[in-house]
Amino acid sequence: MLHKIIRIEATPVFVPGEVDVAGLTIAGKLSGVIVEIETAGGIIGHGFTAVTDEEVIAAIIRSVVTPNLLGMDAINREAISEKLYWLLTPRGQTGYASHAISAIDIAIWDIIGKSTTLPVWQLLGGARSEVSLYTTFGFGSLDQEQLAHAASGLVKAGHKRLKMLVGYHALARRDQGRSLDDVIHDDARRVRAVREAVGDEVEIYIDANCGLDHYHALRLAQNISDCNIAFFEEPIADNDPLKLADLRNRISIPVAAGQSEGQLFRFRDMLTRGAVDILQPNVCICGGYSAGLRAASLARSFGVPIDNGGTFPFQNMHLHAGVANGGMVEWHVVVIDICRKLFKGLPDWDNGKLTLPTAPGLGFELNKEALGEFSKGPFSLGHGKA
Ligand SMILES: [Mg+2]
Repeated sequence: MLHKIIRIEATPVFVPGEVDVAGLTIAGKLSGVIVEIETAGGIIGHGFTAVTDEEVIAAIIRSVVTPNLLGMDAINREAISEKLYWLLTPRGQTGYASHAISAIDIAIWDIIGKSTTLPVWQLLGGARSEVSLYTTFGFGSLDQEQLAHAASGLVKAGHKRLKMLVGYHALARRDQGRSLDDVIHDDARRVRAVREAVGDEVEIYIDANCGLDHYHALRLAQNISDCNIAFFEEPIADNDPLKLADLRNRISIPVAAGQSEGQLFRFRDMLTRGAVDILQPNVCICGGYSAGLRAASLARSFGVPIDNGGTFPFQNMHLHAGVANGGMVEWHVVVIDICRKLFKGLPDWDNGKLTLPTAPGLGFELNKEALGEFSKGPFSLGHGKA
C-alpha cells in the first residue's frame, strides 16, 4: 500500500523570536510540537500545533496516536479523523487532544497534497489564491509610548489592520495584587494612544486572550466605545457562549472568538447563542483542516464570517484561501520570526496580503537543521516499519 503510514514522529520545540518594529526590538518565545508522518511510498508530511504544553502533546502522539495510526492509509483522512476522535475524545472532551489531532491532520493533508501534487488550499476548495492579513504587534511588553510609535511605524510600512493585546493575563495575575480596574483603565489609555497615533483610516482589533471577566470586559469596551474598534477577541474567561452573547448584546464592539476550541459543538454553541460576530477556528488547535472545514461550514450556515485568531498564518492561510467564506489571516510579528526559524520556503507579507504557494501540500518544509537547535527531544515510534 503506497500511502500506508510507516512512521510518525513528534518533536516538542521551544523557539525564541525577535523582530524590529520601527526601531523597537520586540521579543517573544513559543512552544510547539512538530509532527512528521511518512508513508511507505516515501512521502513525508508535516504538521504543527502550539499554545499548549508541548511535551504533553508529544507524549500523546507518541504513546496513544502512533500505535493506532501506523498501517493506516494516509489518504483516508476521514477514517483517520474519526479514529482520532474515538481514541482521544470519546466523550467529547476538550483540551490537549485537539492539539494532537491538529498536528496529525495537518500532516495528513500535506501528504494528500504531495501525493496528488496539489496545494492544500486547492484541495480545500481553492476559493482564492491570496488572503488578506492583519498584523498583531501590540504586546504587553511595550509601554504606551512604544505602542504608539510601533503602530505608526507599521502604518507607514503599509500595515492597515493592527491588533493589540488588552487584559494582559489580568485574571491569572490577581495573585500579584494587581487590580483589574487598574488594568482596564491602563488598557483604555493604550488603545486610545494607538488610535491617536494611526488616525481614523486604520482598523484596530483588541484581544484579551480570555484574561478578563464579564464585568471588566464590559467596562473596557464601554470606555473605548469611541475608538472604532473592529473586534474584541476572546474578551472573557472560558469563552463562555452565554456570557459572550450577553457581552455582545451590551457593547458596540463586535466580538470574535473560537481560536481555542477543539470540538465542533463549542463552535455550534457560540453560533446558536449569538456569542460572536466573527468565528475564529485555528487549524493548529481545532483539529486541523478537517475540523476547520466543518467549523467554516457551520459559520457559513449562520452567516457569520471567519477570521484567523491564534496566529500560525502559514498553516491557516490554506483554510482561508480554500473556502468561499475564508477571511483574514493573522500576521503576528514575533510568531513570523519563529516560523521562519522552523520552516523553509514561507511566503512573505506583500502589502497586507499573502499569496498562496503553488507547490504541493503545505508548500513549505521543515527546517530540519534548525529543528535540532530548538528541539526538546524527539519522541518517535515505528522507525523502519513498512
Ligand atoms: Mg487571540
